[in-house]
Amino acid sequence: MIANSTRLLQPAESAYLGSVFTDMEQTLAVVGKCRTAESLSVSLAQSFNVLTNSDTSSLFKAASTQDIDLIIFSASGVKSVWIEELRKIRSHSILNIIPIIVLTEKNSVNEQLVALELGALDCMAKPANPFILHAKVVNYMKLMKSVKELELVSSTDGLTGLSNKMQLDTMLTSEWYRMKRSQNPLSALMIDVDYFKPYNDKYGHLQGDEALKAVADVIKKVATRNSDFAARFGGEEFVILLPSTDAKGAEKVAKDVIKEVLALQIPSANHNSRHLTVSVGISSFEPLSEEQQDMSPNSLLEQADTNLYAAKQAGRNRFYA
Ligand code: GH3
Ligand code: MG
Ligand code: MG
Repeated sequence: MIANSTRLLQPAESAYLGSVFTDMEQTLAVVGKCRTAESLSVSLAQSFNVLTNSDTSSLFKAASTQDIDLIIFSASGVKSVWIEELRKIRSHSILNIIPIIVLTEKNSVNEQLVALELGALDCMAKPANPFILHAKVVNYMKLMKSVKELELVSSTDGLTGLSNKMQLDTMLTSEWYRMKRSQNPLSALMIDVDYFKPYNDKYGHLQGDEALKAVADVIKKVATRNSDFAARFGGEEFVILLPSTDAKGAEKVAKDVIKEVLALQIPSANHNSRHLTVSVGISSFEPLSEEQQDMSPNSLLEQADTNLYAAKQAGRNRFYA
């Protein structure tokens, strides 16, 4: 017979609990054997995407293909073994920031303290009360949703919806080392709207903002690969990072940006051109190149900026690589 605290939730109870908060885009991973979590899975699956993983290696596999928002880790067997498993999750490159509820086998202060000191957000002794565990899962999922929303807001440029400079810095570093490890090229485009000060002076700041949004939309459209990353660098300047793309590929993207911005036919405030244009500086990092061994992530943008200046000097509405 199933113990009272681990019985399946009755329909009325699970309907009530399930209606508290639902977000099928959030994922709960249950690791290890746990009767309470198993019996809860039915009602939790009405609110969240629930993954059951027999061990940490299947959890790691799942984490490489999808986002996980919360982990229930059911500790069982020899203490030193599950501690090692928990330690592995806490030091995993993706999962180390995901909250974990640890269910310990014994109602032992020592075991719970060890789990909390290893970074578990919460601890309960088995058999955990299913109502309490369910309520905790819902609360932590709500918390994670807010954290994600805050992360998105703090990494996005409010005007254009592109990533902001802070997020660019993070991506530049991670893509740089990812490309270095895989020995694939990384290219960067620095894009600057031409004669934008006169445009603002003539049409006003609000109209200027509309033009920046239109240019940002072109950039989103042109950076098509999943790994392409576009950001507003500041003012009327944008950056596109192109992982696994050499200088030739980057030139193609630069040509597309220049052509598509011109095709917007936004009237310009400058007598040299009827329509608003952009100039682009291109730089590329080739991990296999002997001369580029001392290059740093920042030097990629500095080189793109130098080339942008050259494109401006050469007459604007063009790229320089
Ligand atoms: P260049 O062709 O050499 O790039 O000339 P420019 O006039 O575009 O360059 P400059 O750096 O002199 O001026 C950039 C202008 O961009 C200054 C400001 O009026 C405008 N700007 C910067 N940020 C914003 C913004 O958020 N909204 C609007 N509307 N304008 C902005
Ligand atoms: Mg500028
Ligand atoms: Mg400009």
